[in-house]
Amino acid sequence: MIDFLVIGGGMAGILGASYLSDDYKTTVIERLPIEQVGENIWGIMNEKAFRGIVREFGMEDIDRALFFDYIQIHDCDGRVLVEYNLPLVAVKVGYIHKAMLKTFDGFCLREKISATKLIEKGGIVIKVGLEGKKHEAATFRHLIDASGFSLFTSKKNMIRERHYLFGHNIYKFFQSSIRDIHTDVDKAMLHLVMCDVYTPGGFSVTFFNKNNAIVCGFYNEYMSKIPASERVNYIKNSLGILGILYETHMWRIPMCHPLVDVAYGNIFLLGASTLSIYPKFTSGVVHNMDLTKGMITQLIRIINEQDDISHAGYVYTQSYIYNHIYRGLVNDIIRLLLLTMRSSEIEEVMNIVIGFIKDLSKEKVSILDIPNMATFASKFLGRPNVARIIQKLMNTIIQLYLLLKDFPKDKNNLVEWSREYNENYFSRVKDIVNSRLLSRVPISDLTK
Ligand SMILES: Cc1cc2nc3c(=O)[nH]c(=O)nc-3n(C[C@H](O)[C@H](O)[C@H](O)COP(=O)(O)OP(=O)(O)OC[C@H]3O[C@@H](n4cnc5c(N)ncnc54)[C@H](O)[C@@H]3O)c2cc1C
Repeated sequence: MIDFLVIGGGMAGILGASYLSDDYKTTVIERLPIEQVGENIWGIMNEKAFRGIVREFGMEDIDRALFFDYIQIHDCDGRVLVEYNLPLVAVKVGYIHKAMLKTFDGFCLREKISATKLIEKGGIVIKVGLEGKKHEAATFRHLIDASGFSLFTSKKNMIRERHYLFGHNIYKFFQSSIRDIHTDVDKAMLHLVMCDVYTPGGFSVTFFNKNNAIVCGFYNEYMSKIPASERVNYIKNSLGILGILYETHMWRIPMCHPLVDVAYGNIFLLGASTLSIYPKFTSGVVHNMDLTKGMITQLIRIINEQDDISHAGYVYTQSYIYNHIYRGLVNDIIRLLLLTMRSSEIEEVMNIVIGFIKDLSKEKVSILDIPNMATFASKFLGRPNVARIIQKLMNTIIQLYLLLKDFPKDKNNLVEWSREYNENYFSRVKDIVNSRLLSRVPISDLTK
């Protein structure tokens, strides 16, 4: 029998399995051919972090990444609102994933195998059914879910029982390529379009690779009347780009829903997987890698220390929540802010934020300096509309933070506490977002 079965060979699964395999017999199953993982996703990250990954995984062909150090922010008419310096890299996530995979061995990888079913006994998963292999089922001691699969298939379906999803949590990501470009837009820059019409609650990014462009971004589909297929055309035309649209990919992802019990029986959730409540997109490659390393180290320690699997699950959940929640909340706040603002307000906020960043870079002072923060805050407070929304959002963060302080002492109370936390979150969000976003989204919608 193997010690760990890891479902999902994305970054989190591969990285997690590589650490586990130092001491444990570990197998990874991945439903795709492994070289296809992340191959269609262009990720954007800061240059320094990217160079760290290049060093860590000894990546070659660094010229496959695109480097930008200047950003222009546009409104939905293509008007430039702000420009600023920030060294960034656009790189295919699959390129990093491949380099990572080359570096590691020690675990067994079984690709093109999908987990389809969890077979449970007394709250513990004893077998996982595998697609296409009628009689084959994997057996193991512990299960690492680095795919989000267990959230939808475990008997005590974690999302259904302990979790709510609403329209404001569900986002659609899109990435399209455009060929043979003609445009007056400066191709050496990254162009960000902030717009409540074309990308409600989100934004899009356009970057050029010689005569081709990639448009990628996300929006709240429940707020949007523009069909997904037309969206890229709107954005590219607002920037005055002419070219042939030749490829579009879409993903539907629940982003940043507050809390869930992430360990169920002997299943431990890892990564920021597609179907997870913790956002894959905004968590980003670098953040995901850091968290995965941290969570696996803790998991090994917890399993070694705790004989009682239920208590191990409780300790793991607590640790996962503390590691994810702060950044998750901030991301949620940013998206809620974008969902509640009109273009003119977004412009105002962006100007304040960019102005603040510029001041900081000139004076070489820290963002944490109290006088700087006070100046920054006072600029917002001078604008009643923006200040009102921000104040509500800040209250939400503070209230949720206070609830975290009462983290339950054992697993039995965790479920009840999660429910309370979610109710609290929902009642606050209800005051902020549009009523259209407040109807519950069926879980089956997510897997479509
Ligand atoms: C559209 C998009 C844009 C992004 N942009 C950026 C960006 O700009 N910057 C940045 O830093 N990061 C970006 N990311 C995020 C980055 O890709 C993620 O942080 C990272 O890839 C998540 O890795 P993961 O292993 O947690 O999840 P995933 O990569 O989702 O891995 C999960 C794996 O599980 C497999 N799987 C699912 N179900 C099953 C099953 N039943 N059986 C077997 N296998 C299964 C899937 O095929 C998948 O390979 C983006 C992600 C997306 C989707």
